[in-house]
Amino acid sequence: MVEMELWFTEQQTPDLGFTCKITKTIYTAKTQYQDLAILETKQFGRMLVLDGAVQTTIADEFCYHELISHVPLFTHPNPKKVAVIGGGDGGVIREILKHDEVEKAYLIEIDREVIEASKKYLPEISCALDDERAEVIITDGIKFVSENKNMFDVIIVDSTDPVGPAVGLFQDSFYKAVFECLKEDGLFVAQTESPFYDQDLIKNVFHAVKSIFPITRLYLGFIPTYPSGLWSFTLGSKKYDPLEVDISKIKRIDTKYYNPELHKALFALPTFVQEIIK
Ligand code: SAM
Repeated sequence: MVEMELWFTEQQTPDLGFTCKITKTIYTAKTQYQDLAILETKQFGRMLVLDGAVQTTIADEFCYHELISHVPLFTHPNPKKVAVIGGGDGGVIREILKHDEVEKAYLIEIDREVIEASKKYLPEISCALDDERAEVIITDGIKFVSENKNMFDVIIVDSTDPVGPAVGLFQDSFYKAVFECLKEDGLFVAQTESPFYDQDLIKNVFHAVKSIFPITRLYLGFIPTYPSGLWSFTLGSKKYDPLEVDISKIKRIDTKYYNPELHKALFALPTFVQEIIK
């Protein structure tokens, strides 16, 4: 008898797919906002998929979660109050809470079911969501940010791609609200997709943030399961520049990707990426 193989494909562009072998479909649901699946993959271990797009996997989640968290948190000299917009799998909260000076980390997630599924099936990633310094608020991040002023030292936008409820998280009006929601020396970071496939998005976001924040920087990381592997993050800051950080003062914490030597190197951009944000 021939053993049947199951494969999952994310259609990353109209002309390209990312395919991996599935050993088990662990959970599927149609939530109020999106189609959710937890798959057991052969190559990357458990995988969270929303609307057909890979969100995170056990094998490579550290790349994304460390990069989006430690760059802003080691740029701000004293981050006490931090908010994550999206991020329902909990990976960013886990990284934030590695910083002892953080007093409170808020997770502002629109879809309760992402959190519940992550708690149940991805405990390695969601493990800090029940920490006493973490607070989960189920609401639209756009609404939350526009209703709170002068509140956070750092905001991290860990969103899905700009479709469905996340569309507004990539718009100028949202970045203006983020500016207001930050304290007077606050800073924020957003995941801003692939420099190979999303050049218009990166350009638009970078210029929108630049028109609002005195300091705007783009940095890159490698995330194997995301489209093209090369991923961008846009940072807007009212006062602190990631390139001015004294890296000899960065504390060593338990990480697998981020380290003090990388902190500034992440902002060194290949020429074609420099061109995108010119
Ligand atoms: N790291 C992932 C990536 O780059 O693809 C994102 C992971 S996290 C699961 C993304 C979360 O953003 C989802 O759980 C989704 O429900 C949430 N989200 C989307 N739009 C949102 C909004 N307007 N407010 C709050 N959360 C939102």
